[in-house]
Amino acid sequence: MVFTEDKFVRKGIKFSYCQEVIQSIHLFIFSKHQVFRIVPKDDVQLALVRVLEDILDLELDFWRWVTPVDVRVPSHSLQVVKTYLENHCIKYFTMIKDLQALLDEEQRQMKSIAPAGNTDTFHYTTYHTLSEIYSFQDMLVAENPKLVSKTVIGQSYEGRPLNVLKFSTGGSNRPAIWIDTGIHAREWVTQASGIVFAKKIVTEYGTDSAVTEILNRMDVFLEMVVNPDGYHFTHTNNRMWRKNRKQNRGSTCVGVDLNRNWNAGFGGHGSSNNPCSEIYRGTRAHSEPEVKSIVNFVRSHGNIKAFISIHSYSQMLLFPYGYTRKPAKDQAELDQVAQKAITALASLYGTSYRYGSIITTIYQSSGGSIDWTYNQGIKYSYTFELRDTGHFGFILPANQIVPTANETWLALKVIMDHTFKNPY
Ligand SMILES: [Zn+2]
Repeated sequence: MVFTEDKFVRKGIKFSYCQEVIQSIHLFIFSKHQVFRIVPKDDVQLALVRVLEDILDLELDFWRWVTPVDVRVPSHSLQVVKTYLENHCIKYFTMIKDLQALLDEEQRQMKSIAPAGNTDTFHYTTYHTLSEIYSFQDMLVAENPKLVSKTVIGQSYEGRPLNVLKFSTGGSNRPAIWIDTGIHAREWVTQASGIVFAKKIVTEYGTDSAVTEILNRMDVFLEMVVNPDGYHFTHTNNRMWRKNRKQNRGSTCVGVDLNRNWNAGFGGHGSSNNPCSEIYRGTRAHSEPEVKSIVNFVRSHGNIKAFISIHSYSQMLLFPYGYTRKPAKDQAELDQVAQKAITALASLYGTSYRYGSIITTIYQSSGGSIDWTYNQGIKYSYTFELRDTGHFGFILPANQIVPTANETWLALKVIMDHTFKNPY
């Protein structure tokens, strides 16, 4: 996806003559952008849809690359895309009629709340800026000094701290569970769920027997915003931003897909060497500080037993591999635990999930985090794709944050409990 200035209506507030400042407050407006759900009937039709991706002038933004394909179509491309699909008899329908209307509502809700002074009055039912998330983390640590601490595992490309919350009741280098949210910037329900998980851990320790038992013997690490630069950018400039904010050498296109940058099948199918692509893998494995910081952390810790990375959307629970069809050697067990986890998830509101290996359930993707962690010997490596299945896609209404987090927490507890009871 290439954004060029003339193709978008921009709302710039010119209160400074500094070009950099003016650029930084430019906001992409998505008026009359629509999200189409395209339902190719076979591989031939799917290939015809994929052709559209290469027509850069259309400036399409694929939200889902597999059937059914979801794609954001800017207003200037609507007619061309419709005609193309109709001429090829490819079925499609409009999922979102006016993206900007949804974004305006999201903003209105965010601005209607006052900042909270503690984690009990914190607004879990709304989305938050990066600085609000950072202050939530500090409040949680201050309120629970014996259970929660904050570790800065590195700095993002733009120099923001990469904060990880550690939940621990003592011991040294205990076996640990890693959970991360927000590796892709625009998947806002994930960072918002991360906040809820953090609060749940402190509330359930001492009241929920499974959580208490786990935390008496193991540590939990939670990185709520793996991609802070991208997340900040989704608030200030472009709500649909996915990658980090790396200035790619020799290209005007910005950003690396942080979930294609890991040293597991790096450079293979399902990633791109084009810096303008949404799935640009970067120049080499672990080139990005946001990835390298986790790699260093996992290696130096050396005792992480489960690694769970949380995305949206599609409602899936996935395990390795993404880069190869070779089944993971623990496939049977991973499959069994996944089934148990999604059953627990569905028990709350009936939300249905698919599960399986990445390559068989969603698509081939190379250089992903959980393939790397699995190859490092972390058996319980999982990825979630949270709500929904495409009705709102990345713009999940804020009133779904807490239900999403609540149901996901039940699945996380199944994986954590299984990890606890099956030491290796
Ligand atoms: Zn994602």
